[in-house]
Amino acid sequence: MNCDGVVRRVSNYIDGDLEVSVLEEIELHLKSCRECTILVQQTRLTVTLYRDSDLVDFPKEVQLRLHETVRREIRRQKRAT
Ligand SMILES: [Zn+2]
Repeated sequence: MNCDGVVRRVSNYIDGDLEVSVLEEIELHLKSCRECTILVQQTRLTVTLYRDSDLVDFPKEVQLRLHETVRREIRRQKRAT
């Protein structure tokens, strides 16, 4: 599992809508990838907000944009330290 695989499955992962073997692969990746861990946290937050406002459809492009934002943020933090 690489970052792309996690990004593609992040909403299913949050829904628990994946095979156990895939879930395990994602969790393994999350242990070693800070970006994807943050992505999952951010997406979970966003999904919760979407659900609360009855907008259940979570567009793929939003996920991708979110991942880009997270990457930029991490790069910024790395430079700051
Ligand atoms: Zn990753």
